[in-house]
Amino acid sequence: MTTDSHCHLAQEDYDQDIHQLVQAAEDVGVGCIMAVACESKDWPELLHLIENEDHVYGAIGLHPEYADYNYDLDLKKLPDLFQKTPKLLAVGEIGLDYHEAPQTIEAQKDLFCKQIRIAHQLSKPIMVHTRDAEEDTIRILQNSYNDKIILNQGVIHCFTGTECLAKEALKMGFYISASGVITFKSAQNLRDVFKIIPMDRLLVETDAPYLAPTPYRGKKNQPSYVQKTLEMLAQIKGVSVQEMDKITDQNFKKLYLGGK
Ligand SMILES: [Zn+2]
Repeated sequence: MTTDSHCHLAQEDYDQDIHQLVQAAEDVGVGCIMAVACESKDWPELLHLIENEDHVYGAIGLHPEYADYNYDLDLKKLPDLFQKTPKLLAVGEIGLDYHEAPQTIEAQKDLFCKQIRIAHQLSKPIMVHTRDAEEDTIRILQNSYNDKIILNQGVIHCFTGTECLAKEALKMGFYISASGVITFKSAQNLRDVFKIIPMDRLLVETDAPYLAPTPYRGKKNQPSYVQKTLEMLAQIKGVSVQEMDKITDQNFKKLYLGGK
């Protein structure tokens, strides 16, 4: 059973009904989807979605792009939402993005650290987004790890970083998630990084509606397209697609569902 370990399924991004997208994914063997809402206005829709779709789980949090307001009020709501909703499996996506929002670096760090702490209190893994901010991301994760605030690990989602980031994250027990970017012609360096990542730490995702894999590039991404990324990952790791499928599914379950 294939998993799409990270996608955004807000209705405003799609012409099709979200239920149809979930169905289309199931039809090609995607049996488990992790939907992510990382702006507080999208949280209610996500909660509704995971309540109504059997095989869709959820992650909520605040993306670093939204560090430009008084976010503490929204953070306060997280513990209660997690306690009421067993299908919420992770705090995410959280992290640092100096590319999209260079004007809020200090606020981003604060928001990131606060959410790492909340995830720890809730015993949930974190889903990390990092862009043009590797050094600070590593530093914050390491500090939290050394202070024993990251005990429930997590994943570096849509990994496009360097070998250094991958190695440091692996040392702290993190998983590394491959998105459609690994299928892009220009991404040979990234494919090389994936060669060194141990099999038992790999996840696969679409990050839909963004970053559709080849041959769907330019189209709006959707969970059913995760198969193309899975195929490329299998090729990089030199195993069959079936084997890669089994492994990424097991890893997903180990990280988010306690191995169930
Ligand atoms: Zn995302």
